[in-house]
Amino acid sequence: DPRLEAISQAIRVVPHFPKKGIMFQDITTLLLDHKAFQDTVDIFVDRYRNMDISVVAGIEARGFMFGPSIALAIGAKFVPLRKPKKLPGKVICEEYELEYGTDCLEMQVDAVQPGDRALIVDDLVATGGTLSAAIRLLGKRMGAQVVECGCVVGLPEVKGQCRLNGKPVYILVEPR
Ligand code: IMP
Repeated sequence: DPRLEAISQAIRVVPHFPKKGIMFQDITTLLLDHKAFQDTVDIFVDRYRNMDISVVAGIEARGFMFGPSIALAIGAKFVPLRKPKKLPGKVICEEYELEYGTDCLEMQVDAVQPGDRALIVDDLVATGGTLSAAIRLLGKRMGAQVVECGCVVGLPEVKGQCRLNGKPVYILVEPR
């Protein structure tokens, strides 16, 4: 797809952020480029519009920047998966590993029903730990069918044939 090169170029790489040794893939510059941002959303929309997706779940915070546009375009509801203690009402929580310690993703229990067909969206997949927690929230915990995870950026070892918890991961570009 000829649009992918421009999408890749629109993502700024910031060395040593948020700490030394990390090459941070900064998608905020992609959001500033209307054409590249639109193309990014369009590629996901073209892929998912006929897959009978009923829910798009976005992972805090950068999954919120792509997920709602995709959900609106394919006629699905949008559900935020958030860091702990942000969502009111009854929530369920799944932990995932960080480099040091663990964190947790929460979802409101009334947001998703068994039988929902889910797409999970985030900006970037590295180890897959975050997406795995999201897959467990929607799949194992709520009984939804996770159709796929969609990410703008994925490491080369993830791009292509990657599956997480048996679910396919669709990636647009590799880090530069
Ligand atoms: P994983 O759980 O190791 O796959 O890490 C993915 C999570 O970390 C996602 O929620 C990303 O938003 C975030 N992340 C890790 N590295 C980067 C980066 O370079 N740019 C933007 N987000 C990142």
